[in-house]
Amino acid sequence: MMFFDPLWLLFAIPGLLLGFYAQFKLTSAYGRYMRVPVESGLSGAQAARQILDHAGLNDVAIAEVPGRLTDHYDPRKRALFLSSENFRQPSVAAVGVAAHEAGHALQHQAAYAPLNLRMMMVPVTQFASTAYSLIFMFGIMLMWVGHSSGALFQHIIWLAIGLFAVVTAFQIITLPVEFDASRRAKEQLFRLGIVHSDEQGAISQVLNAAALTYVASMISSVMQLLYLISIGRNRR
Ligand SMILES: [Zn+2]
Repeated sequence: MMFFDPLWLLFAIPGLLLGFYAQFKLTSAYGRYMRVPVESGLSGAQAARQILDHAGLNDVAIAEVPGRLTDHYDPRKRALFLSSENFRQPSVAAVGVAAHEAGHALQHQAAYAPLNLRMMMVPVTQFASTAYSLIFMFGIMLMWVGHSSGALFQHIIWLAIGLFAVVTAFQIITLPVEFDASRRAKEQLFRLGIVHSDEQGAISQVLNAAALTYVASMISSVMQLLYLISIGRNRR
């Protein structure tokens, strides 16, 4: 059984552990700096507005959305969506996250290649992800009925590998996009004087913790892909 294979655990544990660690780091850094007011007194929305306006992106709207850390930039709507806390609060964490999302708008304006590639990959990845889930369940069914060594299973496993490789590639291309958005955010925050030099470390802690969650997801996917490949090769 694929689920109870001890080899699966071996492949899954590094990603899981890093995932838990990343979540812990993000929750603690975000929780801590949510309570630290930014010296400039700007809310997340005001800070993002300044960054966007300075770049000539006056037409990029900033809207408030419910939820915690639901912040994102929508390239199709050319709009920033900030969670209520980050939209309203003048905290170090809010300003850091809001500036990061503004960083994605700056990437879009600059036609930053990894962002464009990531955008192009969205529909393909959604399809691959859904198809993978279905194929995976079909593969388990084949195992249950004892057909795990047949030619059909062989086709299924390599199809699953191909689909999951697309999902993994998407997560790999997400990394430069996220790191670069944070880099642009910090650059603008300091240049425009929204954040002072004694607040730089705190901003970096929040943004690095957020980036680590993307690294954890990517490592989980790579390990799962390697596991699938190991099954495919063993059954050849
Ligand atoms: Zn981002």
